Amino acid sequence: MVDTRRVKTLKEGNEQSGPVVYVMAREQRVEDNWALLYAQQQAIKANVPLLVLFVVGPMFNSGSRRHNDWMIASLQEVEVSLQKLQIPFFVECGEWSHTVASFVKQHAVQEVVIDFNPLEPVRSWREEMVHAVSCAVSMVDARNIVPCWIASPKAEFAAYTLRPKIHKLLPEFLTQIPKVVMPTVKFAGTVPTIDWGEVERFRTVSNEITIPKYFTPGAIAAKKVLNRFISSRLDGYAVKRNDPTLEAVSDLSPYLRWGNISAQRVALEVKAAEVPKADKDAYLEELIVRRELSDNYVYYTKDYATIAGAHAWAQTTLHAHEKDTREYVYTYEEFENAATHDELWNAMQRQMVTTGKMHGWCRMYWAKKILEWTKSPQEAIDVALSLNDRFELDGRDSNGVVGVMWSIAGVHDRAWTERQVFGKIRYMNFNGAKRKFDVASYIQMYGKETSLFNE
Ligand code: FAD
Repeated sequence: MVDTRRVKTLKEGNEQSGPVVYVMAREQRVEDNWALLYAQQQAIKANVPLLVLFVVGPMFNSGSRRHNDWMIASLQEVEVSLQKLQIPFFVECGEWSHTVASFVKQHAVQEVVIDFNPLEPVRSWREEMVHAVSCAVSMVDARNIVPCWIASPKAEFAAYTLRPKIHKLLPEFLTQIPKVVMPTVKFAGTVPTIDWGEVERFRTVSNEITIPKYFTPGAIAAKKVLNRFISSRLDGYAVKRNDPTLEAVSDLSPYLRWGNISAQRVALEVKAAEVPKADKDAYLEELIVRRELSDNYVYYTKDYATIAGAHAWAQTTLHAHEKDTREYVYTYEEFENAATHDELWNAMQRQMVTTGKMHGWCRMYWAKKILEWTKSPQEAIDVALSLNDRFELDGRDSNGVVGVMWSIAGVHDRAWTERQVFGKIRYMNFNGAKRKFDVASYIQMYGKETSLFNE
């Protein structure tokens, strides 16, 4: 049974006799998906068929080609997995809430189950959809191990305030996950063959930024990446993870972001691994506490990508230093083309564009320099998020919002010594980077000869 604390009732429905539909969105996988499991549970209880629907909405045409390709590949794997389970899968293109509402009407759906996503524009689309349908609607947190609204009822101040709450609840939620079963009630209607060509035709974004060769999208690849990480790099993670010249981190963020793998599965496998406890603890802190803190911030903060989302101390100090003279000011295009005076920053930008994933330590330095080299903190947030969400394979999710807001607006951080431009926001500089890792090697790895935008 799915723990009912994972489920939020968004609408009580009128009595319908039709199927239950899981509207898959953020969680693009079949295995270990609490939203799909809950939808199946509801279908079994009502003795009706279970359908899965994915709506390729307008957001498909923002972002970049690499995100779209990743999504299509993920959904093609979902199609195969659902076929094996004989669960009908529909993929439709169109305006999101309207398309879901039409589907509900057409199939006299009795309950819609959706997966949790705190980000805009999805949360507005969800509200529109709830308004437009007359059936029951439930939302399941299939992303966080401890459901976001159970972990805390408010925006947490920092990791240290969320951590004890999560740790207290983990024994109740970090449990084994049941399997989706073959449905006993078959769907009598017609299931059209998915027209992937139509999905391609729906795409309007340009071709320039495809998936880099370092990554293979989807649930099958996600498991391989996890297994490789556990067998070869988890041992030593605690010490090596902040060195961007080493292969030390898991590289799982794109898979977690697209829902190709569940964080709960990753946590269970890591917990069971035979490596030193310090490595497991360090990894689980990032995967659980830091990651779940991101959804907490976005879920409970209205203007999450603006200075208004920052702590009062940070807003005050950023406003006080807004007019400080900047030594360098760059345009979006200069940042995008890695054309600053700082070769380390340029190398970081190149790592992001060419590999689809900048190292975590570098992301902090990279974003803080954007604060230093733009005209205002809000412009810095906009530029950093826009670049992050265009090039990072794991972009366009809560972690990106919080990473940028932590670096530029002190979210989840404390006040530091006051200085030009940054005010009391934590500062990072080249010498700090030199103390952390071999900067020259890193610059060489992603140096000038790495050409951008020619994949
Ligand atoms: P690992 O070290 O192997 O960590 C495992 C998992 O833990 C990650 O996949 C991620 O889910 C989680 N995690 C690790 N570090 C953090 C963190 N600081 N905050 C929250 N969760 C974390 N992460 C994204 O997933 N998407 C983004 O768009 C993104 N943008 C960022 C932008 C900035 C400016 C900053 C400072 C951080 C950003 N992060 C983002 C957080 C972090 O850098 C990445 O999650 C991490 O580098 C992903 O690599 P990995 O999976 O190999 O990490």
